[in-house]
Amino acid sequence: MPDMDLKAFSVCVVGAGALGCAVLEKLAGAGIGRVRVVDGDIVTPKNLKNQPLYGESDTKNPTFKALAAVKALRSAHKGTEFVASAFYIGSKRAGKALFGYDMVIDATDNRESRLIINETCINNRVPLMIASINGKKGLFYIINGKSACFGCIAANARKPVNEECVNISRKDAERLAEMMVTGMLRFFESPSQLQQFTSVNLATNATESQQLLKYAGCQTCGPRRRRRSRDGAVVQLCGDGIKASIQRRISLNKLSAGIPGFVRDGKADFALLRKDGKSVLVSFEGDVLFTGYGEDEACALLNKIRRAVHAASRTS
Ligand SMILES: [Zn+2]
Repeated sequence: MPDMDLKAFSVCVVGAGALGCAVLEKLAGAGIGRVRVVDGDIVTPKNLKNQPLYGESDTKNPTFKALAAVKALRSAHKGTEFVASAFYIGSKRAGKALFGYDMVIDATDNRESRLIINETCINNRVPLMIASINGKKGLFYIINGKSACFGCIAANARKPVNEECVNISRKDAERLAEMMVTGMLRFFESPSQLQQFTSVNLATNATESQQLLKYAGCQTCGPRRRRRSRDGAVVQLCGDGIKASIQRRISLNKLSAGIPGFVRDGKADFALLRKDGKSVLVSFEGDVLFTGYGEDEACALLNKIRRAVHAASRTS
């Protein structure tokens, strides 16, 4: 890219899993000036196989992926400024978090997050790249308001992009990330061009591109767009995590006092409950991450946490 000063560009990556890690490395390698990492998950031993930004030491204590990723990236790439945001993109927080970037890259693994990110980027007029890997099939697509948004795609397909928990190889993630960053730089050169939806066969490197038209009934970019409230949705993550959001700030000391077992370590941003190999992490911003729990069990516990939070706010 001959005439572009990539130091002046900023990119926000949501999701620091296998694909997210690979993309972060490529962005730094390309010389992007400022990169933000948004992820509310903690590092687990399963992540170490295909997520090279994390190490054994990150699994000993609950460590947010966003913080661990930024720490690793800072030591390897001095030319890029990195910012970590250790939270999930919920509808209330998304607006501010995804504002002011030259591009947001959605490397999350579930439809709920993708819809929120899509809606926010459209409302903020921030270009969005969605990407996913499913087996040997990769795809990426830049949404810039001219052709279909993710809402259009989701309305017309049962499984628009990968939402399954497939094991992504590190090599495949790196190959797709390389193509994504090349596509992004091309977009920076001529941002008003119509964008193509690109599918990649990662076994052969063959690509196929397709123009996607807007769907007139789309609730995000169509004429009848509406705003949704997504408070408290429970979302199953890859691996054994379930996340939810209470969508309000939480006094962690009161939570620890209200529900036996919750422990806050010093001035940590979260309180943690550990029991029988399972854990629940609650952040002061209202994110809840269940590890090792079934969905029914997680919902019951989430209700208990909600009640404790509401009771605490009445007494304050
Ligand atoms: Zn749309």
